[in-house]
Amino acid sequence: MNTVILREINNETMAEMGRIIRNGGLVSFPTETVYGLGANACDDTAVQSIYAAKGRPSDNPLIVHIADVADIGTVAREVPENAKKILEKFAPGPITVILKKQPYISNTVTAGLDTVAIRIPSHPIARALIRAAGVPIAAPSSNLSGKPSPTKAEHVIHDMNGRIDAIICGGESNIGVESTIVDMTAERPTVLRPGGITLEDLRTVCPDVAADSHILQSVAEGEQPKCPGMKYKHYAPDADVTVVEGSRESTEKKISELVAKAKADGKKVGVLAMSDIDFGADLKLSSGKNNKEFANRLFDALREFDNQKISVVYAQFCIQDGYGLAVKNRLYKSAGNKIIYTGD
Ligand code: AMP
Ligand code: MG
Repeated sequence: MNTVILREINNETMAEMGRIIRNGGLVSFPTETVYGLGANACDDTAVQSIYAAKGRPSDNPLIVHIADVADIGTVAREVPENAKKILEKFAPGPITVILKKQPYISNTVTAGLDTVAIRIPSHPIARALIRAAGVPIAAPSSNLSGKPSPTKAEHVIHDMNGRIDAIICGGESNIGVESTIVDMTAERPTVLRPGGITLEDLRTVCPDVAADSHILQSVAEGEQPKCPGMKYKHYAPDADVTVVEGSRESTEKKISELVAKAKADGKKVGVLAMSDIDFGADLKLSSGKNNKEFANRLFDALREFDNQKISVVYAQFCIQDGYGLAVKNRLYKSAGNKIIYTGD
């Protein structure tokens, strides 16, 4: 398939992208979290082609994107009061709510569930595309299944060129990790995936919000998590990643030892860290000064290690805060839960 790579965005080209979606095609587009891979959420065949293009397991449902909070009734058949409060405060933005679905939302979108994940992105290109399409857009992240999510158009081109109809290039996603998902159909609203809106943020409007136990723990064999995506390998580069977690000083010491050992074993070693030293690694990438910057750089860094044929990566995690939960959730998965705690 010839993929159109759209660099010039104007009313005409956007109308064309909207037509592609409406007519059953696949278009990748920038959002403030990561790039999405969109199809008409009411067209079963179009939605099936998302799963095929990504190699995504068919029991892992997608998020439906709409342009305005006011349109939520077209996708959800019930919007409880606390969901309204959360949307009023955080939407448009990096928040996804799980609600009961309207019958005409394709079952392929929801993987047969009676609930649907809904997001109103704040990115102007994403909103313009939804309006141009005139239909809700089902979109997961625009990467090959299992790989780090794309935060730059070049990541999408790497994974999706030749597999989809079009890619809209719109610069870097400034948040860099996917949206916070809150299940509003549970007895207590429950965060299923941490993201740009923290638990603390949510509790300012909805004090009883809970956090699902699988946010940091892996899913056991045969267990059915609330969020089907939790049971799959995710965000994993080709390199073998290990997280080293603890205080700044103790993680620095541990990573330096691990790097020396891996190099002695003839490996090409990468380090992703906040500390301002090079650890003797073949490639040291900075994760920034805080967890917000870490979230913004994480997926790009994981892809960069692969570009440079790094075989082993040590990732430092040394600040525990509200935003850190989203970073840790992604890091632990990219490391297949290989974590060394330095004990302080
Ligand atoms: P992605 O857009 O690639 O980050 O994937 C969307 C995430 O939302 C996946 O982890 C899905 O399992 C999750 N998700 C989508 N719909 C639902 C739903 N109705 N209930 C629970 N989780 C959902
Ligand atoms: Mg994804």
